[in-house]
Amino acid sequence: MMLKGKVALVTGSTSGIGLGIACKLAAAGANVMLNGFGDAEAALASVAAHGGRVLHHPADVSDPEQIAELVSQTERQLGTLDVLVNNAGIQHVAPIEQFPVERWDAIIALNLSSVFHTTRLALPGMRQRNWGRIINVSSVHGLVASVQKAAYVAAKHGVIGLTKTVALETATTGITCNALCPGWVLTPLVQQQIDLRNQALGDTERATRELLMEKQPSLDFVTPEELGELTLFLCSDAARQVRGVAWNMDGGWLAQ
Ligand code: NAD
Repeated sequence: MMLKGKVALVTGSTSGIGLGIACKLAAAGANVMLNGFGDAEAALASVAAHGGRVLHHPADVSDPEQIAELVSQTERQLGTLDVLVNNAGIQHVAPIEQFPVERWDAIIALNLSSVFHTTRLALPGMRQRNWGRIINVSSVHGLVASVQKAAYVAAKHGVIGLTKTVALETATTGITCNALCPGWVLTPLVQQQIDLRNQALGDTERATRELLMEKQPSLDFVTPEELGELTLFLCSDAARQVRGVAWNMDGGWLAQ
């Protein structure tokens, strides 16, 4: 129960990686504020099964005003904010000349600017207590590019730059800031990309295998649970000098 008495906020935690991380934080004793769209009741039930107090706030974290409300409600309802996991993210796949301007703006607002807003709002309380953990879910696409993902790759590289800056600005405190860089994780975000490939192939198994073969040498998906365990390590005392890293968990993607 390493996080007993601590409060965690995980953006985009009604599904996928965020939900997996929230479950691990709850199992480690944290009270958790969930956020995200879709089936909030199901997410609440699955996180609550691990123990602790669990609430959900429906803020759209591409909107700075709603982010302010999310952070202040977390502090008001759960008492504090000690662990901030910036996880909410979306994807759009298109060549740059055809990339819809509205999708670019939406991806930058959600995948990058939201991290700036939650961080600037969470830091004052963390500084007062001289303890905090900020974990930004970037991507291997924060370190290398792929075609047709201009906004996502730009935003995820930006998250790593922001992570390093926050790590330096808090370097002499008990607050750390780090990024996770997952390879393929089989969530709704990736399922959409498999479905796109499948439109041409008409064979889901083959579409999945080809997606993995292109980038991920292990030919196996990373799981939300594994990313949750890495998050717990970054929350631990042993990780107190891990600052400003972009930690890939990617089945060998970046080793190539
Ligand atoms: P997902 O689609 O399963 O989950 C996304 C979550 O974000 C959901 O809870 C959704 O409701 C929420 N969300 C979407 N728009 C939101 C908004 N405007 N405001 C608040 N919440 C919003 O996706 P995932 O694969 O679990 O992705 C989570 C994070 O991990 C993203 O930042 C993504 O870029 C990153 N990532 C995913 C993979 C992968 O292979 N799945 C790899 C690397 C990085």
